[in-house]
Amino acid sequence: MNTTTSLSSANASLTYDVIVLGSGAAGFATAVTASCRGLKVLLVEKTEAFGGTSAISGGAVWLHDTDQARAAGHHLPAEQMRLYLKEVIGTGYNLELIETFIEQGREALRYLETHSELKYSLRPLSPDYYPDLPGGTQAGRALEIDEYDGRRLGEHFKDLKRPPDGMLLFGGMMVNRVDIQHFLSFKRSPKSLWHCLKLMGRYAVDRLSHPRGTRLTVGNALIARLATTALANGVELWLQAVPESLIVKQGTVKGVQISVARPNPIGFRQRGRGAGHGWFCRQPKGRRAAPGN
Ligand SMILES: Cc1cc2nc3c(=O)[nH]c(=O)nc-3n(C[C@H](O)[C@H](O)[C@H](O)COP(=O)(O)OP(=O)(O)OC[C@H]3O[C@@H](n4cnc5c(N)ncnc54)[C@H](O)[C@@H]3O)c2cc1C
Repeated sequence: MNTTTSLSSANASLTYDVIVLGSGAAGFATAVTASCRGLKVLLVEKTEAFGGTSAISGGAVWLHDTDQARAAGHHLPAEQMRLYLKEVIGTGYNLELIETFIEQGREALRYLETHSELKYSLRPLSPDYYPDLPGGTQAGRALEIDEYDGRRLGEHFKDLKRPPDGMLLFGGMMVNRVDIQHFLSFKRSPKSLWHCLKLMGRYAVDRLSHPRGTRLTVGNALIARLATTALANGVELWLQAVPESLIVKQGTVKGVQISVARPNPIGFRQRGRGAGHGWFCRQPKGRRAAPGN
């Protein structure tokens, strides 16, 4: 769908199978999964940049018995994970939730890695937060996101949430755990020196045409990887779009009223199971779209 065209006329009607609110890792994982299954998806982000806290996070995941862990020879029994989580969580332990996490975590990651640009690697050494508790480990659960080329996002790179300056070198260069080790060693290791020189050379070239480095690490890499797939799958991403209210009829959500920063017509009509109808109207920022406008 051509969003611009669709939005240019008042009272136009847009229809989506899935509307996702929030463009962090959870939102993009949902958008990617839905779009991979052939569904038409709208992703609504209230701020001017996409990625949320996820984009400025470490981007690591902590899961039981992933393919990466198995490939590295870790075979941690599920009972060990249960034991550890019971020790850490205590009375808040939710059996159903934990079992789902243990049983489905690997499958969820595998699905996203198979169907999107997402790519994780096992951290060779990464103790659990409480490694000395029963069930705790020194390695085998934490995975780190592989670096990513932000240029793959094309024009959308500029809209990816920029990490705080304190997380960037030279005013715009991202690094990961391995890079930091090389920077700490470059005076005594030719290999580390070469690694750092390559990073800085790439960064220098990037800055000729970009406001910051395009080699993305940690949370920025996570979001960029998911976003590349989502956008390639046709997911529509609206920035500075604030959901005002859900449109509920007879106990069923039929649509969402959304305010956007630009005076665009907004809204959607939901289809599929529980199908209903919604509304579209020109709405300057701060005004509510009224049903039926
Ligand atoms: C420095 C740091 C490092 C971290 N490192 C890790 C780590 O390595 N591993 C890990 O597992 N966790 C880490 N975390 C925690 C992790 O970042 C969060 O748990 C995770 O990002 C939450 O993802 P999310 O998609 O739920 O939310 P977010 O990434 O915060 O995304 C939510 C998005 O929704 C938008 N939004 C909110 N309300 C609305 C609305 N009404 N309409 C439209 N949009 C809306 C927000 O603007 C935002 O963009 C870290 C956190 C920090 C701060």
